[in-house]
This record gives sequence, C-alpha cells and structure tokens, in this order.
Amino acid sequence: MTDFEPPLRLTLDGEALTSNWQALNTRSSSAQAGAAVKANGYGLGAREVAARLRDAGCRDFFVAHWGEAAAIADVIPPAWISVLNGIQAQDIPHIRALGAVPVLNTPEQVAMWHASGGGRCHVMFDSGINRLGIGAEQMSQCDLRSLDIDLLLSHLASADEDSAQNSAQQRLFHERVAASGAKRLSLANSAGIMLGTDYHYDLTRPGLSLYGGIARPGMDAFIKPVARLSARLLQVRTLAAGTSIGYNATHVCRDETAVGTISIGYADGYLRAFSGKGHAHHGAVALPVLGRVSMDLVTIDISAAPELREGDWVDVDYDLPTASALTGLSQYELITNLGTRFERIWR
Ligand SMILES: *Cc1c(COP(=O)(O)O)cnc(C)c1O
Repeated sequence: MTDFEPPLRLTLDGEALTSNWQALNTRSSSAQAGAAVKANGYGLGAREVAARLRDAGCRDFFVAHWGEAAAIADVIPPAWISVLNGIQAQDIPHIRALGAVPVLNTPEQVAMWHASGGGRCHVMFDSGINRLGIGAEQMSQCDLRSLDIDLLLSHLASADEDSAQNSAQQRLFHERVAASGAKRLSLANSAGIMLGTDYHYDLTRPGLSLYGGIARPGMDAFIKPVARLSARLLQVRTLAAGTSIGYNATHVCRDETAVGTISIGYADGYLRAFSGKGHAHHGAVALPVLGRVSMDLVTIDISAAPELREGDWVDVDYDLPTASALTGLSQYELITNLGTRFERIWR
C-alpha cells in the first residue's frame, strides 16, 4: 500500500468469518469442514482468511491455481493446501518444491503424477457436473490403486436447489468410492452441507457461506455477513429540477436534489447492474443510487441526510442475498468481483 488513504474500504469481520466456519463445521456432522479460499479468499483476502481459519482449527484449504497456493504457503503448511485445477507437466518440479497437494482431474494427470514419482495426491471424480474431473466412463482408464490418494472428491452441480441431480450424484459417488482406495472422501460445498449427513463423508468444502453467502434458504439463521463496503463522498452539490445525472443521462431529477458522488464504481466490482437500483446508507438513512454506475464513481441522492459533507463516508449496501435479488448477479459474482482498490480492514 502507499501513503495515501484509499477512498473506499472493505471492513471485514474476522469473528463472523470464524463463526461461519465453526457453524458449517458443526453442521457437517462427523465430517471436518475445510475452506475454499480460491480467488483471493472470494475477494476478501486469501492470506488473512486462511490465517484466521487455521487458528480456528481448519486443516484443509482449497485453491484453484498453483500461484494461489504459493501465495498462502507461508501462512498455511503447504501439505494442508489442495490445488483444484490440476497439474501440467512443466509445473511438476515446482509443485514438488512447494509441497501443496494436486487434485488430479484427468486420466492423463493420474498417469503423469504416477510417472513423475507419485506421492500424496487427491483425485476429482466427476459425478455429473461435467466440468472438471475424471468422468464415470473414464474411471476404468485410471490405475488409482497405484496412487497415494488422500482425498477422493466430487462436486455437486445443483446443491443450491432441491434437484434430483443431488441424490443422483451422491449415489454415483458412493458407488465409485470403494474402488478408489482413497483415505478420505469429500462431496459437499456450502449448499451441499445442508443436504444432510449422506453428503458429508469425511470432509466438506464450504466457500461462499464462510464469507456470508446464503447458499440455501435458511442458512441466514447461522451465517453472518463478513464484508461491509464504505466509500468517501468526493463531491456534494444541489442539482436543479430537470438536471440529468451520469452517462447517457438515464436519471433526470424531478425536483431540486441534493446529490453526492462517492468513490466506488464498476472497476471496484460495484457493477452497472446497481445503476438506478442500489443504495448507500448514512446510519439508518437510505441514499438511493441515481443514474449509471461509472468506472470509479457513483452518484447518490443525499436529500435525506443534509448533514453529509465532502469527505464523509457512507456505507454501500452489499448484503449478498439482497444484492443478488436486486441485480440478478449471483452472490458468488458479487463477492469475488470486489476489486483491489479497497482498503481491506480486518476487525
Ligand atoms: C469453489 C468450490 C467449492 C466451494 O463451493 P461453495 O459453493 O462456494 O461453497 C468446493 N469445491 C470445489 C471443487 C469448488 O470448486
């Protein structure tokens, strides 16, 4: 960071984060809960998230890329880090030097890992999401018994819905488990934890709900929000009736309106879907977004808070389920898009 005070903040509640992990761990019955910390801890900061969950007792951390594993390898023992997106030949020396654990996703990767000396690994079985992993029809091409498999994983496609696909995937996973020789089994993400003990096995892999996302209805009973957004008012002025605001003049003031422009925009992840729909807050007073969200700026109606001045801070509404319903963006998109210009402050 520089000496300059950033004009936008993410205030992060470390206690809510660990409380969410503990709640998901408890709801995983006899399984342990791990943590998905890919995409920079879903945008909140992988190192800070991982260190807090390590202290809370979490022992399995999932990232997508090898670079993400390297970025947390000084706060988490590498043997506790699993890399979901698999391996390629030229990376193997670096993978072995780092010591994080690969998730093998194809018969070719299984053969490559074995040929390069083997060692502890995980295997992704694709039980029906048909995205990444060894398909049921490919399992016979893999000599899994030749590997030291810690985790056999699979990933649910529709765990956030009451879909017949859930039990179909669970049954197929269950059938293939015995032949794998794996020490541990893992199927459930955040939403999957709520599908019941049949889905828990040895390890669950929550991501979204650690960070305050409500993966299935009812989880708001025990999941707490983690991130709060605030932005500084850069300008305050009063616009005459009939004045338009922002790109393409999508908002025209009906009456004289006190407006403020705050330092946040779509480059920070506050996407144009909030144009004319989002809100900021000053205490309990709601301040509606007027017109288009720009790259670095948003204009809000501050008529209801005449005490606001240039330099003051306002909270930007970003409750994940509410913002998702408002904009049509998924809770995952909303949180992982939060940009690099925020000062991230852990409390
Ligand atoms: C991202 C991811 C998770 C976490 O999923 P959430 O829905 O965020 O809880 C778990 N497993 C795999 C394989 C993933 O890619």
